[in-house]
Amino acid sequence: MAQSKIYKNFIGGEWVESRSGQTFENVNPADTRDIVGIFPASSKADVDDAVESAKAAAEKWRLTPPPKRAEILFRAGEILTERKEDYARDMTREMGKVLKETRGDVQEAIDTAFYMAGEGRRLYGVTTTSELQNKFAMCVRVPIGVVGMIAPWNFPMAIPSWKLFPALVCGNTCVIKPAEDTPLSTLNLVRALVEAGLPKGVVNIVTGFGPDAGAPIVNHPDTRAISFTGSSEVGRIVGEVAARSFKPCSLEMGGKNAIIVLDDANVDLAVEGAVWGAFGTTGQRCTAASRMLVQKGVYNEFVSKFVERSSRLKVGNGIDESVEMGPQINQQQIETSARYVELGRNDGAKLLLGGNRLTSGDHARGHFFEPTIFGDGNYKMRIALEEIFGPVVTVVPIGSFDEAIEVANSTPYGLSSSIYTRDVNKAFKAVRDIYAGITYVNAPTIGAEVHLPFGGVKSTGNGHREGGIGAIDFFSQWKSVYVDYSDKLQRAQIDTE
Ligand code: NAD
Repeated sequence: MAQSKIYKNFIGGEWVESRSGQTFENVNPADTRDIVGIFPASSKADVDDAVESAKAAAEKWRLTPPPKRAEILFRAGEILTERKEDYARDMTREMGKVLKETRGDVQEAIDTAFYMAGEGRRLYGVTTTSELQNKFAMCVRVPIGVVGMIAPWNFPMAIPSWKLFPALVCGNTCVIKPAEDTPLSTLNLVRALVEAGLPKGVVNIVTGFGPDAGAPIVNHPDTRAISFTGSSEVGRIVGEVAARSFKPCSLEMGGKNAIIVLDDANVDLAVEGAVWGAFGTTGQRCTAASRMLVQKGVYNEFVSKFVERSSRLKVGNGIDESVEMGPQINQQQIETSARYVELGRNDGAKLLLGGNRLTSGDHARGHFFEPTIFGDGNYKMRIALEEIFGPVVTVVPIGSFDEAIEVANSTPYGLSSSIYTRDVNKAFKAVRDIYAGITYVNAPTIGAEVHLPFGGVKSTGNGHREGGIGAIDFFSQWKSVYVDYSDKLQRAQIDTE
C-alpha cells in the first residue's frame, strides 16, 4: 500500500495549511484501506485568503497580452502530456475510473489547454458599422476579474481544465474548490500550470467540503462570477446565492439521458453504445445513458444482447488494465444505487441483471456495485425519471418514433441524448425535436469533444455552456467601444439627417 501524503492549499503561489489546521482523508474507492492523501478542510478564512491573493494578481494578469497568457497554457498542455500516465494513475487511485478512462480525462485537459492556447491569438470581437458618419464601432472581450469555481468528482481533471483554461486566457484570476472526493487531480493540473510559468496568485486552490469551502466562494463579494458543476440540488443553492449579488453564474448540473433505438437500427452497434453509455465511468457521468428507449420490433433482440454483453463486464480496481468497470465513488453513491434498485422493483420493472453490491473477494474493500439492468420500464417510474449516477439502467419498450421523442423529453433534465437509426429523416427530426444540449446519431450519449459547447437545458443548466466558444462567452464580458472622429458632437438617434 503506498503511503498517504499530506497535501496543502495553494494560495498566492505558496502551499499552505488551512487556517484551522483541520484536514480530511482522500480515500481510494476501490480499496478504502488506501488513503491517497490528507488534504486541508478549508473554511471561510482560507477562501478569504485565496480571494485576496487572486485579487492582488488580477491587475497584472489582466494586462498580460492574451498570446502571452496562452503560451503558459500551451506549456501546461505539454507538461500534462509528459505526465499523462502518472496523473491518470493518481486519478484512478482517488476516483476509481479505469485507467483507459482516466487517461482520457487527462487527455481532455491536454486538448483544452491546446485549444484555449489557440484562443490567445483569437478572442475575436466584432467590428461593425455606425449610424453616424465618421464614427467607428466595435465590441471587444474583457476579463471579468476574480472567478470562483466549484467542481464535481467524476471528471476531476477535465472539468477543472474546462473552467481554468478559458478563464485564464480571457484574463481572469481564479479560486477553485475541487470536490472533496478528488482534490489530487486538481492539484496535479495546477502544478502543471505553475511549472509552465503561471504567476503567483493567478490560480488558487482551496480544498474541502461544499458548505464550508464552496459556499464562501459563492458568497464572497470579490468573486465576480461563479462557475459551478455538480448536482442540480446544490446548483440551485449556488445559483440563488449568486443571484443575490447579480453575479454571472454558470451552472452545469445533472442528467437523465436516453438512447433511442428504432426498429431500423444496427442493433449490435446500439448494444455496444448502450454498454459504453450506461456503464462507462460506472454510470457516474452527467451524460451517462440511464434510459434505453427501444422500439418494440427490436426490443427482445436488444435486451437479450444488452444483458448478455453487460453480464460479461469485468468489475474491479481500475488500476488493473483488464478491468472494464471500476467502483462507485463512495458509500453514499452505493446506497443511492441500492435505493433505486428497490424503487424499480417496487414500481414493477423487471430486474434483468445485477441489482446488488459486490462484497466478496477483491470487491470486499471497495464500493462496488453490479452492472444493473431493468426491463419493461415505463416513463413514469422513478428509475426512468431521476438521476441515479450509478450503474443502473432502465430499458423502456417504445411503440413509435413520436413516442420515443416524447419519452426522451419527459424528464426534468436535458443534457445529452442519442438515437440509433438508419433513416436520415428520423435522425434529423430527432436532432430537431429532442430538447437537450447534445444529440448523438448512431453513437451513445457520452463522448463530448472540447471544442464544442457543452451543457444542457431545464434542470441541467441555466443557459451557459462550457467547452469551445461557449466557455469564452462565459469567462469574458463584452465591452462596446465607439470612436468618433468627426470632431463635432454627433447624437445617436437624434442627428438623423
Ligand atoms: P455535488 O453537487 O454534490 O457537489 C459538487 C461540488 O459542489 C463539490 O465540490 C461540493 O463540495 C460542492 N458543494 C456542495 N455543497 C455546496 C454548497 N452549499 N455551496 C457550494 N458548493 C457546494 O455533485 P457531485 O456529487 O460532486 O457530482 C455529481 C453531480 O454532478 C451529478 O448530478 C452530475 O450529473 C453532475 N455533473 C454535471 C456535469 C455537467 O457538465 N452538466 C458534469 C459532471 C457532473
